[in-house]
Amino acid sequence: MQSMAEAYDFRSVERKWQERWERDGIYRAARDDARPKYYVCEMLPYPSGDLHVGHAKNYTLGDAVARTMRMLGYNVLHPMGWDAFGLPAENAAIARGVDPATWTAENIANMERQVRRMGTSYDWTREIATCLPEYYRWNQWIFLRLYEAGLAYKREAPVNWCPHDKTVLANEQVVDGRCWRCEHLVERRSLSQWFLKITDYADRLLNDLEKLDGWPERTRTMQRNWIGRSEGVRFAFDIDGLDATLEVFTTRIDTAYGATFVAIAAEHPIVERLKGIVSKEHAAAVGAFAESLQSKSELERTSLMEKQGLFTGAYAINPLSHERVPIWVTNYVLAEYGTGAVMGVPAHDQRDFDFAKKHGLPIAEVVLASATPPNGALEAAYVDDGRLIASGDFTGMSSARARAAIAERLTLLGAGERTVNTRLRDWLVSRQRYWGTPIPIVYCAACGEIPVPDDQLPVVLPPGVEFAGEGSPLAQIPSFVDTTCPACGGPARRESDTMDTFFESSWYYLRYLNPHDDRAPWEPGDAAHWMNVDQYVGGAEHTVLHLLYARFFYKFFHDRGWVSGPDEPFQRLFHQGMVLYGGEKMSKSHGNVIGIDETAETSGVDAMRLFLLYVTPPEDTAEWTDEGINGRVRFVNRVWRACEPFFATGGGTRIRDLPAAETSEEKALLRAVHVAAKSAVDETTSRRFHYNATIAKFDELVNAMTSAIQTMPASAVTRYAAHALPVLIAPFAPHLAEELWEHFGHATSVHLERYLEPDERALAVDRVTLVVQVNGKIRARLAVAPGIAEEDAFALAMAEGNVRAQIDGKHVRKRVFVPDKLLNLVAT
Ligand SMILES: [Zn+2]
Ligand SMILES: [Zn+2]
Repeated sequence: MQSMAEAYDFRSVERKWQERWERDGIYRAARDDARPKYYVCEMLPYPSGDLHVGHAKNYTLGDAVARTMRMLGYNVLHPMGWDAFGLPAENAAIARGVDPATWTAENIANMERQVRRMGTSYDWTREIATCLPEYYRWNQWIFLRLYEAGLAYKREAPVNWCPHDKTVLANEQVVDGRCWRCEHLVERRSLSQWFLKITDYADRLLNDLEKLDGWPERTRTMQRNWIGRSEGVRFAFDIDGLDATLEVFTTRIDTAYGATFVAIAAEHPIVERLKGIVSKEHAAAVGAFAESLQSKSELERTSLMEKQGLFTGAYAINPLSHERVPIWVTNYVLAEYGTGAVMGVPAHDQRDFDFAKKHGLPIAEVVLASATPPNGALEAAYVDDGRLIASGDFTGMSSARARAAIAERLTLLGAGERTVNTRLRDWLVSRQRYWGTPIPIVYCAACGEIPVPDDQLPVVLPPGVEFAGEGSPLAQIPSFVDTTCPACGGPARRESDTMDTFFESSWYYLRYLNPHDDRAPWEPGDAAHWMNVDQYVGGAEHTVLHLLYARFFYKFFHDRGWVSGPDEPFQRLFHQGMVLYGGEKMSKSHGNVIGIDETAETSGVDAMRLFLLYVTPPEDTAEWTDEGINGRVRFVNRVWRACEPFFATGGGTRIRDLPAAETSEEKALLRAVHVAAKSAVDETTSRRFHYNATIAKFDELVNAMTSAIQTMPASAVTRYAAHALPVLIAPFAPHLAEELWEHFGHATSVHLERYLEPDERALAVDRVTLVVQVNGKIRARLAVAPGIAEEDAFALAMAEGNVRAQIDGKHVRKRVFVPDKLLNLVAT
C-alpha cells in the first residue's frame, strides 16, 4: 500500500534540526582525535547588522566544504567570530547617541541568529568577538611583544587624514585618493603615530608567496605588487657649496650619465639647508612652493596634479660624471618613498622627459637601441635596455653589464651600493578613535615611553563616553588618560590612540584554538595540532592588506616559536564571487537586498544553500533569480518524494553494500548514485569546489529516481538509491538530509556518517558502437559511453585519422547524429 504523501515542511524541519545539532554538539571539534585534522575558516565578518544572501554564499561554501570533509573522515575545525571593532559603531554613536558596545552586541546577536539559521556547522563554543576585553587584551599583549622586538615604534609622520571620519588612514585605506569607507578626499597632516615594522619582513612576505600554490594566482600577484620590490642602486650626489649629500635610488644606474637634474620632495629635510646657500628669491619661492603642497594628498600630487617643479638655485654633483646638475623641488617625488630624491634622466624615463620638456632642461641620450648615433631629436624617452654612449669608462657596454660595472665602481668610491627598494611601507596602526583596542603605552615625564606591564592588561575602554565627533574621544577623558607610571609610580599620561582594526583580524584564526584561555592568546600545542588553516574562504575585495598583515603576524609568531610547522597562516585560499540581484550588487540604497530571514521563510534554507552553490561555479559572480530559487525548492520536494516510499521499510539498507544491478535501468540508476558521489568527493579533494556540477548530478539522479519509483519500485537498486540520497546531499541540504535519515529509522545524525565512497564497479559503463560515416561511407567505428553527446562524438570522430583524411580540405556542411548509433558527416 502506498503511504499518503506527507508534505515536506521545511520551516519546522529546519528549526528542529538546528536546535538538535546545537543540543548534541555534533560540530564541536576536539584536539584528541585520531582522524586527520582539517581547519576550514571563513573570513570573520564585521557585524554590520543584517545578512543577505550575498553574505550567505561565503558561509554556505565554507560550510559545504566543512561538512564534506567531516564526512570524508576528517576532524574538522570550523569556527566563527566577529570582527567587532571599527568605525560604523562609533559613527552610530555620534549620529544617534547609541553606545558602540551595545550597538555592536545587538548586531552580533542578530547576525549570529541568522548565521545559525543558515544551518551552518560551526563550533559555536569557539565563538569570538574582537571587541571584548577577553580578546583585545591579547592584541595588547601581541603589541607589547612587537614593541619589545623593536617592531612597534612611534614617529612623527605625514599621514592620510580623513576629514569626514576625523581619523588617520593607512595608505592601503586610501583608494584613488579617497577614504575607503566614506569616500571623502583624503588630506595630508603631520602627526606622531605608531607604526609596525612590516618592512622588516618584506623579503619573506614576497619570497614565500612561491610556497602558496593553493592561492589564486591573481591574489599572489596583488601581494607581489603591493610589496613592490625592486633591485637597484642607492648612491649619493654631493651638493655644491654644502657639506651634505643627496641620496637617490634607481633601478637604471646604467643611465646615470644621462642625469641632467635631481628632483627632490618638497618635504625633504635638505630643503631647509639649501635655502641657506641660495639667493633670497630662490629661498622664498621654494618655501612658498612647499607650503602650497602641504595639504595635498599623495594621489593629488602623483596623479591628479600636473607635474610641477621649481629650481632651488642649488646644484648637485654627479659622482660618476662629475657634472653639476640643478636641484629641483617637485610635487611628484614623495618624502615617504625611497630616499625622497630621484635623479632626472629625461632621455630614458618618460616622466623625466615630460618634465624636462616643460621646464627646458637638457636631454642627454646615453643608451642607444642600435648602433645608429643619436639625432638629438627624441620624441619620447627611450626606456629599454641598449648600448651605452657618452658614459665614460662604461661607454660601449650593454645596459645589463653597465649596471653591474657602475654599481661596483660606486661601491669602490664609497658613493653608493646595490640595494633593494620596496613599495611596502611600515604599517601605520594608530587611530584617533574610541572603538578600538587601546595601545598599551604610558608616557611619563621622568621615564618617557613605558609599556603597560602584562599583569595590568587589559587596558580597558572606558564605558559611557560622550561623542562630540571631533578629535580622539579617549584623549578627552581624564579618568582614562591620567594614570601612574608603571616604572616610577609618578603621574603619567596614557596613550589615547587605538589600534587599526586590521590588528585584530591578523591573528583571530589562532584565538579560535583557545578562545577562553585567560593565560595565553593560544596554546602552542594546539597551534601545532591545528595550524595552519587548511582552507581559507573569503571575498577578493579588500583582502590584499588583511592577508599581508596576517602573514606578517604569523611569521613573527613563528620566529618566536609560538606556532610551528609552515610559517604561512593560510595553506589554501578561495575567493567566492558576489551575488547580484537585478544585475547589481545587493545594497540597501539600491533596494535590492534579499534577506536571510525572508528567504528562510519563503523558500527554506536548504533551497537557498543549494541555489547559491548551484547557480554558478563558486568563484564566479552569481545572479539571484526567483526562477532559480524556485527550481531548488522543487528539487527539495522531489528528493522528499523520491525517498518517501521507503520510509516504512526502515534503515536496513546499507549503502556500503553495492546491490546487484541486472537491467540497464538498474545499472544506470546505480551509476547515477556513484557519479554524484564521485563529483562531490572530487570537487572537495581537488579544492575546486565546483559543487554546481555536483548538484547538477543530483538533478540527474533524482530524475532517475523519480522514474524508478514508477518503473521498478521493488528493485533493490531503487531502495539503495533512496537510502544513499540523504548521505549524498547532506553537506549541501543538511536539514532535508537529516530529516530523511531519521525517517529511514536512524537514531544518529547523517552528518556523522561516512560519505558514500564512489565505487568503480558502479561507475563502469557498457560501451556502445558508434558508426561514423563521411558522405555516406563508413570511415570509423567508435566504442563510446552510452548517451554520449553529439559534440563529444564529433570531437572523437575528428580525432580518427581515417575520418580526418576524408574531410581534409573540405567543410563539414551537415551532421546527422543518431544517439548511440550513428554520426554521418556531409563534407564538400
Ligand atoms: Zn572617511
Ligand atoms: Zn615614570
